[in-house]
Amino acid sequence: MRGPADLKLDRLTKRYDAVTAVDGVSFDVPAGTYVVLLGPSGSGKTTVLSMLGGFTLPSAGRILVGAEDITLVPPAKRPTATVFQDYALFPHLDVVRNVGFGLSVRGVPKHEIAQRVTAALKLVGLEDFGTRAISAMSGGQRQRIALARALVTEPALLLLDEPLGALDLSLRRQMQEELRRIQRTQGRTFVHVTHDQEEAMAIADLIVIMKQGRIEDIGPPSRVYERPRTRFTANFLGESTVLQGTVAACADGRVAIDTVCGRLEVAGERAVGSRASIALRPEALRIGGGTDGDQPLGEMRVEDCIFQGSFQRISGSNIHGLRLLAKVEPQALPAGECVPISARRGGLVLLED
Ligand code: ADP
Ligand code: MG
Repeated sequence: MRGPADLKLDRLTKRYDAVTAVDGVSFDVPAGTYVVLLGPSGSGKTTVLSMLGGFTLPSAGRILVGAEDITLVPPAKRPTATVFQDYALFPHLDVVRNVGFGLSVRGVPKHEIAQRVTAALKLVGLEDFGTRAISAMSGGQRQRIALARALVTEPALLLLDEPLGALDLSLRRQMQEELRRIQRTQGRTFVHVTHDQEEAMAIADLIVIMKQGRIEDIGPPSRVYERPRTRFTANFLGESTVLQGTVAACADGRVAIDTVCGRLEVAGERAVGSRASIALRPEALRIGGGTDGDQPLGEMRVEDCIFQGSFQRISGSNIHGLRLLAKVEPQALPAGECVPISARRGGLVLLED
């Protein structure tokens, strides 16, 4: 299979003696999607990727690419290619031979290899470097060579394990844009592993947030960011203030919860009397407010204001010691000042836990 194809993970599980590295992970990816697996170290990201690439055999579950079950297919026979974190280039071969290696192993005719390698090097902006030795290439260039080597095989599924981890920040940002561009141009499915939440939000069509071998949340970046499903997501992907309280009333898909910021109303359903948590993103916290649709949250005592260009990051706390965080337009707010605050309409999100 060479063209784009849908990907399906069906209760994928990997157990090592005492550890369950991946625990019943299921999700569907339409062809041509940029998927990012995001999670802290040890959450099972590499193990999922390694099962997709065929380097680790699952203990249970299935992997489907299009209609084909590839769960037990050896790596070289899969419609996949992997970019490893350390690039795994051959130091004794020049750039062209590194990139063409997989094709020669597969017995692709020489003239076709030459054409495809040239096209792949062009795609990553290294068309003038074919005869260079790997040792004469920088970290960023090696990363591109590894990418070209994977792309040249025209995989339905490109797997990338922390591919930008070794690059400095500005190069990482630049490569994020390039990966996105290449993925869009080719319309292939990319599965990219990272623990960097900014990277995930910058490039993903679909973010899969992992924790302890399970999916904690899955969705487009905007949904996962704006409406986190759980407390873990609310804190791992960006920052949040989490308000806890007791459900005072529930009707018509709205829940009223008594918190240290007063009685707040959120969309959802909960039993009256039960405990509940609400997430509030810094962008949803307003200084002042009380205008239509905003929910007043009492007062915040300003502790710190950091100018960050187009916005200002304000941290503070309320009278009950709840830490609050706001991202607002730059304005003069002296530390120590008490200001009324409110939550934007729709800015309060009921968490599942
Ligand atoms: P991540 O890539 O998210 O950091 P991994 O997939 O590498 O996480 O690891 C998930 C869990 O599985 C960890 O607890 C790790 O120690 C364990 N693990 C991974 N590979 C092996 C292995 N070959 N043998 C035993 N345990 C492993
Ligand atoms: Mg890993």
